[in-house]
Formats: sequence, C-alpha cells, structure tokens
Amino acid sequence: MASVHQRGDDVLGVRMPKMARRVEVDAIAACFRVGRLTVVAREASTIDPFVKYVLECEDGARIEAVRIPLEKPGRFVVCVSSQVGCALGCAFCATGRLGLARNLEAWEIVEQVRIVRRDLPEGGRVHGVVFQGMGEPLANVERVIAAIKVLHDPCGAAIDQRAITVCTVGIPSGIRRLTASGLRVRLGLSITSARRETRRSLVPVENANPLTEVLAAAAEYVDVNGDAPMFAVTPLAGVNTTDEDVAAFGAMIAEFRARTGVSPRVSIVPYNAIGEGDRFLRADEAESTRFRDALSAIGVPVVRRYSGGGDVGAACGQLVARPSST
Ligand code: SF4
Repeated sequence: MASVHQRGDDVLGVRMPKMARRVEVDAIAACFRVGRLTVVAREASTIDPFVKYVLECEDGARIEAVRIPLEKPGRFVVCVSSQVGCALGCAFCATGRLGLARNLEAWEIVEQVRIVRRDLPEGGRVHGVVFQGMGEPLANVERVIAAIKVLHDPCGAAIDQRAITVCTVGIPSGIRRLTASGLRVRLGLSITSARRETRRSLVPVENANPLTEVLAAAAEYVDVNGDAPMFAVTPLAGVNTTDEDVAAFGAMIAEFRARTGVSPRVSIVPYNAIGEGDRFLRADEAESTRFRDALSAIGVPVVRRYSGGGDVGAACGQLVARPSST
C-alpha cells in the first residue's frame, strides 16, 4: 500500500488526478497561510501603565490595540479592534469619524492578542480580552465568534471565556447570534442614555435599533448565560446626566432586572477628548459624582471606571490609528 508522501501524486495513499492535486494543495495552502500584523508604533503612556499598539494589516490598513493593566501586578487585558474604522458614527467616538473600511478577519483579531502577549513584562499574563477597540464587534459577529473560539481554546490563547467581554452599542441580531453560538463571554452594552431622543443624537444606530430591542436581545442572552451584563455610560457635560436621565436609567435597569432576575453592573466611563470639532466636554468631578450617587440612591450597582492612556490616544473613544502615529 502506498504511504502518505511516498509518491508526489498520492494524497493519503490515494492516487489523485492532476487537477484534484492542484485543488488540494491550494486548499491546504489557503487553510494554513499564517498572516501577520506589523507593529508600526508602540506608545506607552507616561501617566499610567497603558500601552497602545498601532498595527498595520497586510493590505496597509491600520488598527490599534491597547494593553490595559489590571490591579493584580503582571495581569493584563487586551482591548482589541474588530473592524478597520466603524460605520456607526457615535458622536463621542473618534473611530466613528473614520467610517468603515472593512471588517477584520478572525486571525487579525487573534493576532492583536498575540502581539501584546509577546510584549509582556517577564512573568506577565494576558488575563482577558475586551472587544472595545476600533469597530462594532457585533457588526462583524461571525469573525468575532471565530476569534473568541481561538482565544479561548487551550491550544490557542487559553483565555477563560468569562474574561472575554464583547461590548456593543446595540446590534440585536448580533447579540442573538452570540447567544446561539453557545459562548459564555460577558456582554457589555454602551447605553449612553436611556432617553430615546438623547440617545439618538449620540448613538445614530438607535434609529434602526431602539434600545428596547437591544435590551430584549440582551435579556435573551442573560436567559441562556445567566451572567449580568455590563451597561456603560459616558457622562457628557450637560448632555446625559440630568435628573431625567437618571430617572430613565433607573427605570430601564428596574425593567431589565424584573425581566431577567439579574441586575446589570453599571460602568461610568469618563469621556475622552477626540480632537478637532469635538462637540463635548467631559462631565467634571462634581457632575459625575452626582450622576453616580443618584444611580446608587435608586439601587443601581455602579462603578466609575478608569480610562487610561489618554496622553497617547489609547483611552476609550480615542482609537483612530492616525497616520501621524508612525
Ligand atoms: S463607539 Fe464603537 S460603535 Fe460607536 S463609532 Fe465608536 S467604535 Fe463604532
């Protein structure tokens, strides 16, 4: 019996017609081609231990990933991009100004984690991944799911699914696809405002996907996974922190809690300036504190999150992979 590789025209011991051999070889080559992202710049913040990586894809497109330190020394989370640019145009986000160039392939998402991992200090470990870089991950949901499977696989990056967070501004079909995938990653929703008119002015996708539909899909995710989602809000001075905003936020949380039996964790993320033409100011300490205390007073579990790397454009909402980063 012919053995594998015994003859150039045999595949697994079976003699193949010439054309079939060509197809076979092409298929294998396509399956096993290993792509690479090139590190164009590594920008370490001088105010905190955040590090931003500007990465160039094989087609010349640029994306950014951020290494976020956790409180436990030597533990890091990687904030990854899922698209080159973004089509959703949220008013407070620099990436949204770029428009969408293309979706990232699954390997391009995984590669971001590999690049950050090989740059860790000695003894360091990537504890988790957050899909909060450039792009709306659930607008590229199939590749994001494929990437998560590799990141979680023991033969891949071996990262606990519960340490992977997918953040969305609201794509109900994508949330449902994530639910159907059987993955048990954490879900983050960028709420921004629970008042429809305010949200529409800040998050244009609200016009197509009202928050009520997003929350209905998120509740189904909770039904299957059981985990409380994270609701993010970025206080913008004088825009979404009024008493009416607090009341609407509280009512939304109460409804979600009644529907699912779990209470979302609310994360207050400070606004980071996005440069020329910026329409907003970060809510100051007093305004943010008042907003947080008002939510706490009505029983909403709320934390204020640190958003680091602002001096190198690595903070939430700032990722643009500017050519000047080179
Ligand atoms: S916040 Fe997210 S979804 Fe909105 S424009 Fe920025 S990258 Fe896109």
